[in-house]
Amino acid sequence: MHIADVARSGREGSEYSIRGWIYRTRSSGSIVFSVIRDETGIMQCTVKKSDVAQEDFAGAQKALIESSVECSGLLKKDERAPGGFELRATSFHVVSFAEPFPITANQSEPFLLDNRHLWIRSREQTAVMKIKETLLQGARTWFRENDFFEVTPPILTTNACEGGTTLFSLKYFGQDAYLSQSAQMYLEAMTASLEKVFAVTPSFRAEKSRTPRHLTEYWHMEGEEAWVGNEGNMKIQEELVSAIASSVAKERKDDLALIGRKVDDLKAVEPPFERITYERAIELLNGKGKEMSFGDDLGTDEERLLTEELAAPIFVTNFPKSLKAFYMKDNEDDLRTYKCADMLAPEGFGEIIGGSERETDYGKLIRRMEEQKIPLEPYRWYLDLRKYGSVQHSGFGLGIERVVRWICKLEHIRDATPFPRTPSRIYP
Ligand code: ATP
Ligand code: MG
Repeated sequence: MHIADVARSGREGSEYSIRGWIYRTRSSGSIVFSVIRDETGIMQCTVKKSDVAQEDFAGAQKALIESSVECSGLLKKDERAPGGFELRATSFHVVSFAEPFPITANQSEPFLLDNRHLWIRSREQTAVMKIKETLLQGARTWFRENDFFEVTPPILTTNACEGGTTLFSLKYFGQDAYLSQSAQMYLEAMTASLEKVFAVTPSFRAEKSRTPRHLTEYWHMEGEEAWVGNEGNMKIQEELVSAIASSVAKERKDDLALIGRKVDDLKAVEPPFERITYERAIELLNGKGKEMSFGDDLGTDEERLLTEELAAPIFVTNFPKSLKAFYMKDNEDDLRTYKCADMLAPEGFGEIIGGSERETDYGKLIRRMEEQKIPLEPYRWYLDLRKYGSVQHSGFGLGIERVVRWICKLEHIRDATPFPRTPSRIYP
């Protein structure tokens, strides 16, 4: 049985069998205290020389931490044991003896990252992986309840979506190709049949900047909706993110406690989120002593200043055109800007979503691409979409690891993914 189920059933004196990996072990003479870890928790097995076969006791004495083991025994309440129960072993079988485990207390970050394949066994990393899984499921449930279809766009592409500077390129049978930065354009194509679609795919950005919020490979959750404008797009995003926060708050209380995030913090994430324009954001930043003017981009520092005292995410809307991509829709009320919005997470975490209404006018798109010297050829199919029944549509991209980082209050985004990819790391 799983350890959590044994503790939950709690029938003292009954015999249970558990299996897992040795989390801690110590022995004193004729008794070994072996704390076993499985996916659900930890439980102490007390192995007495007089209660088990000779080879079982010898195995328990010899087995180092992270050895895999199976233990059967009688359940006993014990206030001092983690979880309040222990098993008095009747048998103890070592499945595989571990070598001395390289990860011990107080090791350097590079060492831990080199041993990431082992470090992910830690309870904190396990909690983060579980929270990430719950968050993905929560999002999928929300999408399904709101008539979105999950679709599977390609990762190998010939066009840039977010600009050429952060593309990973490769040779595709002699032709130049790239790893996808975003599925957006393919999702736009699919809205003409499915209307509302979403995809969860890896996205790749050759970001050279080393920041605590950039990976070179990350998981991207993107939505695209026909017949929806910028305001409707924001409504979808705030409901989605609130649903994500509430599914984690509901299903992952123990894991949240283990990593030090209060459940109540997540309960404060409820729609509607505050909306401020980019222009207002600049005023606020000036008020906080950050000298900026219209046209300057919001980076890590600026987003921290805007959000560090907040409890829920906000939208920053209507960015200047020079800061955003060519496919966004003009804001008729202020032609210096687009109809777009970024969602910033509270407590200083900053951008977790970028979204916009998309330009539907063929001529406008061509003019902008020519102005920005973007070659038309790779985008022919994308431009085609405007020729055959184009309708108002909008979409967004949410960085899964950015959301995990915020929800788990992680200092660095690399801890939001089991095998992080950064400019200096592609191993293990
Ligand atoms: P930033 O300005 O923070 O670099 P961006 O504006 O380039 O991000 P978008 O192109 O809007 O990002 O991508 C959509 C979302 O994907 C972002 O809101 C963010 O959550 C996520 N994202 C973008 N780049 C990265 C990255 N390098 N690592 C992890 N997540 C990312
Ligand atoms: Mg963005």
